[in-house]
Amino acid sequence: MDSNTSKQTEPLKNERSGRATYDLAVVGAGVAGLNALNAATDYLPRGARVLLVDQKDAAGGMWNTAYDYVRLHQPHPMFTVGDLRWNWRKPRQYLAARDEVRSHLSSSLGPIADKVSLLTQFGHTVERCAEVETTNGAMAELVIHPNGNPNQQRSILAKRAVYATGLNYSLADPLVFSSQKVLSIVPQDLLQTLKDNPDAPVFVIGGGKTGMDTILATLAAEAKRSVTLINGGGTNFLNRTRYLPTGLKRWISGQLASRVFKELATEFNGENEDQLIEYIRLNLSTDPDAKSRTFLYGLQSQEEHAQVQSGLANTISDYLTDVVDNAGGPILFTRNGTETPVPTGSIFVNCTGSFFRSETLSEPREILSENNKMLSLTSRDSFHFLTSVAGFFTCHLFFRGQLRGYGFYTMDLEDLFRKNRNAWVGATAAQAYLNQVMALKILPLTLLNRCGLDMDRWYPLPRRLAALVSMKRNAECDVAHCRKVLDSIARRFETHSKQLT
Ligand SMILES: Cc1cc2nc3c(=O)[nH]c(=O)nc-3n(C[C@H](O)[C@H](O)[C@H](O)COP(=O)(O)OP(=O)(O)OC[C@H]3O[C@@H](n4cnc5c(N)ncnc54)[C@H](O)[C@@H]3O)c2cc1C
Repeated sequence: MDSNTSKQTEPLKNERSGRATYDLAVVGAGVAGLNALNAATDYLPRGARVLLVDQKDAAGGMWNTAYDYVRLHQPHPMFTVGDLRWNWRKPRQYLAARDEVRSHLSSSLGPIADKVSLLTQFGHTVERCAEVETTNGAMAELVIHPNGNPNQQRSILAKRAVYATGLNYSLADPLVFSSQKVLSIVPQDLLQTLKDNPDAPVFVIGGGKTGMDTILATLAAEAKRSVTLINGGGTNFLNRTRYLPTGLKRWISGQLASRVFKELATEFNGENEDQLIEYIRLNLSTDPDAKSRTFLYGLQSQEEHAQVQSGLANTISDYLTDVVDNAGGPILFTRNGTETPVPTGSIFVNCTGSFFRSETLSEPREILSENNKMLSLTSRDSFHFLTSVAGFFTCHLFFRGQLRGYGFYTMDLEDLFRKNRNAWVGATAAQAYLNQVMALKILPLTLLNRCGLDMDRWYPLPRRLAALVSMKRNAECDVAHCRKVLDSIARRFETHSKQLT
């Protein structure tokens, strides 16, 4: 399916090869690819020929396929493309639902197509995207075909390309149990399964963001439903009520996100990851008493936390290993050897996470190709764990020729995540803070102020300015600390974490 956004793009034919040639090609129309594309319009001439390709049928990336009751963790104004405003009047703290996010992201294509000549090719797979030598010098080559039709493969050239195919994210499968007497489902099937099985107890496997969403969605559908959480080592959530306060409190309380990153980066010395998580639990989380052992940057309000706690029939702080049928009915087994009988027909929802779950690491890709024609926003050589933020900053730096040699760090998010999740938290905080400070040094304030994803924008301007001054004043010392942390991570875990040269 070819679809054109507002204007038809006529790609130039490359004189010798006869292949279609674009000024820019972007692979991936998720929030990262869209932020990169939007940033690129600052540098491309008006009417430049731009191709946007995605396997999905519409823009929005994973927000097209995530479970239907997912909501943003952060207030909606801070999840956007560039500084595009949401086209509605809702309270700033409103957490947008899946279809609202998808629709907002899609709406960014209109203003982009006013600046460049944009061809969108949804429902197309990019088989290969690499820098190649042509008679016109180094260019990016894309080999693309309609989904499921590799025979219709064709190759196009672009002066530059951005490859933003998301982190290694896959939709979860239902967990496989020995029992034939319980239902094992994924979040996508929750609401229908609840309707079809009105009295069945629900077991939520996994205490992260998806688990919390699932508990709240189940209770919203039926407040009296019995819900049990099986939450492994437990997950801490950053306290949204405290860190994103509303009304007048924005002037006098809370803490800017940049300060939170600095705090995490400072608490981490490159070796004390378990203490860091302990620090987060005690000082930043919604439940300091819970003894939860992980943290994955999820946000939760105190109210949501209270709703979850009061709605749960039971919490099992252990890892589920199997559900087995015996003469008396199904029995739930855990890693620590506990056995709990569960009613026949119970619903088990797999909320154990969707990132970096494949058996093997995803394909390694350097963030910048050899001749700087291709920018890749993937997990193996990452600029920021939030691909949205990476899309904004790296694309500006890419077009300005300031990504290499300016002290920015990139790291292998996926490798470290698989090796040690707690060290991953410390390292990603140090990297996020370091790269933010470096960007502040070289990018104009007017440009930084157009990053709608910046969570500091929650706070009034005077507080943000004070934070910027403090960031600049302490830059040298903070950067030195973050570098030490990231170098130590590279050594300890034999992983890629280094300056982009
Ligand atoms: C359940 C869930 C909830 C989340 N909630 C939040 C939240 O509240 N706030 C937040 O900031 N982040 C959240 N995240 C993180 C999320 O990953 C980001 O918000 C963001 O949407 C990721 O954007 P992306 O563009 O990097 O990747 P994606 O959204 O995955 O987009 C990548 C796109 O590339 C396309 N693509 C991939 N390979 C190819 C190919 N070979 N050819 C063509 N196209 C291809 C895909 O079809 C996809 O559309 C959440 C993640 C999950 C899984």
